[in-house]
Amino acid sequence: SIYGDYIKSVIRTVPDWPQPGVNFRDITPLLQNSAAFRKLIDSFVHRYQEMDLDAIAAIDARGFIVGAPLAYELGCSFVPVRKKGKLPFKTISETYTLEYGEAEVELHSDAFHEGDRILVVDDLIATGGTMLAAAKLITRSGGQVVETATIVDLPDLGGADRIREAGYSVFAVCS
Ligand code: IMP
Repeated sequence: SIYGDYIKSVIRTVPDWPQPGVNFRDITPLLQNSAAFRKLIDSFVHRYQEMDLDAIAAIDARGFIVGAPLAYELGCSFVPVRKKGKLPFKTISETYTLEYGEAEVELHSDAFHEGDRILVVDDLIATGGTMLAAAKLITRSGGQVVETATIVDLPDLGGADRIREAGYSVFAVCS
């Protein structure tokens, strides 16, 4: 992507967090740097400004950081895809498996209209499980997933391949 190398240079890797052997990719230095944060949002605006989106579906919680300014700039709706138990109204949910156990994402049943053009955003794709569950949830609720987008893709984990194999397009600002 246009600013990919630059964005990558302002993401910090924290070794052995949250557990030994994991290299956690920490986007907080990117968010603290106003020029970098602007370039990040501009990367998404540049890609999506002509795509006639109806809504940005952003994944709880770091997806919100990108999703809200993007929805504002593109003039489309903002829809939160939340972790289980956070949304107050009628919800539909999708369960997915983690390395140990299960997780669940939820969406309000009236979040968008049949056929709406939706972009799903999150901060990072690892195994792809979270993004794929969100995309499936949106498809089930009648939305058209135009693309799934992330700041960081970790290609060694194969998440983006898995999402593409399920029939969704994937865009990453950096890998
Ligand atoms: P996945 O479902 O295995 O693709 O994991 C992606 C989800 O876990 C995203 O919602 C991320 O916010 C979070 N995540 C996993 N690893 C990292 C990381 O290294 N940095 C930041 N978030 C991560």
